[in-house]
Amino acid sequence: MPLEVLERAQSELTDWRGSGMSVMEMSHRSPEFVSIAAEAERRLRALLEVPDDYAVLFLQGGATGQFSAVPLNLAAPGAPAAYLNTGSWSKKAIAEGRKYVDVQVLADEKQSNYATVPAEGSFEVPQDASYLHYTLNETIGGVEFPYVPDAGSVPVVTDASSTILSRPLDVSRFGVIYAGAQKNLGPAGLCVVVVRRDLLEQARPDVPAALDWKAMAEADSMLNTPPTLAWYLVGLVLEWVEEQGGVQEMARRNQAKADLLYGAIEASSFYSNPVQPAARSWMNVPFLVPDSSLEKPFVAAAAEAGLSGLAGHRSVGGMRASIYNAMPIEGVRALVDFMTDFEQQNG
Ligand SMILES: *Cc1c(COP(=O)(O)O)cnc(C)c1O
Repeated sequence: MPLEVLERAQSELTDWRGSGMSVMEMSHRSPEFVSIAAEAERRLRALLEVPDDYAVLFLQGGATGQFSAVPLNLAAPGAPAAYLNTGSWSKKAIAEGRKYVDVQVLADEKQSNYATVPAEGSFEVPQDASYLHYTLNETIGGVEFPYVPDAGSVPVVTDASSTILSRPLDVSRFGVIYAGAQKNLGPAGLCVVVVRRDLLEQARPDVPAALDWKAMAEADSMLNTPPTLAWYLVGLVLEWVEEQGGVQEMARRNQAKADLLYGAIEASSFYSNPVQPAARSWMNVPFLVPDSSLEKPFVAAAAEAGLSGLAGHRSVGGMRASIYNAMPIEGVRALVDFMTDFEQQNG
C-alpha cells in the first residue's frame, strides 16, 4: 500500500469526511458509501480506459473465487474451455475449472520449468471453446505475457491479479479481466472483475449468487453486503495512482524498477533469474543464489537490513522481490545495494 494512502485512511478512520462515522460503520446502502463505491468504479474505469460496454464488479472470494466464477458464468453446456498453463496460478485455475467444464490445456510450459510463456501463435484456440483463460502475470514464477493471445471469436479471460494498473492494458481485447485486490489495488478481501456485458447472459442456472456476474452487475455488486472498508481503500489507491500520473506513469516507474533489479542480477555472476528475458515480470522478480544453503542467511540478513518478504513462495523456494506499484524505486535501490554487499561477503 502507498504510505500516503495509509496515512489518508488513518486520518479518516474514525470520521469519514465529516460524516461522523467510520467507513466501517456505514450502511452499504447509505448515500455516503454508495458515493465511495461509485467513485472507486469511476476511477478504475478512467485509469484502465474501460469501454462502456463492460461492467465493473467488486466481488468477494478473491481471485480464487473467480477460478470457479469463470466457468460457472461462461461455459456453454457441452463446450470445452481452453486454458494456457504457465505456472502455479494457471494450475490452480485449471484445477478449479475442471470441476465444472471440459478443460483443454492448449499449451503447458512444463518443459521450460515454467520459465516462459508459449510463443505467440504457437497454439490454436478451438473455436467451439467457451473461452480462453490465461494468467497474465504468474506471481510466483515471475512470468508475464508480453502479448495478448489471439483467440479469434472466443472470449479471452485473464487473471491480472498481480499486474493490473502496473502498465496499460487494452481492455477491449478481453472478454473478462479479473484481479484480486491485494497486489496492486489495495487490501485483500475484494476482487475486481471487468466483464464485457454481452457475456453476462450465459451463466449456468446453478451459479452461486455471490459469483453470479449478471446478478452482481444488476445490483451494483451489492447483492449482499460488500467488503466496504476494502472497497473504500481500493478507491484511495486508485486516487493515488491518478495523482501520480495514471497507468502510463506507473508503467514508466515499474519499467525503471524492473530494469534496475534485472540489470543487477544479470551483471552479477552470483545471482540468477531463471525466466526468459522476453517473459520477465515487472512485478515479481524471482532470483537464486549459487547455493541454496545461502538462501536462509540471505533472507535473514535482508530482514535485518529492513528488507522483508524476500523469501520465494514456499512452493518453489529461492528468493522473490515483489515490486508492486506501491514500491518506490528507492526500495529497489536498497535491495540492489544489499544484494551487492551480500555477494561481496559470500561470493
Ligand atoms: C494472489 C493471486 C491469486 C489468488 O488470489 P486470492 O485472492 O488469494 O484468491 C490468483 N492469481 C494470481 C495471479 C495471484 O497473484
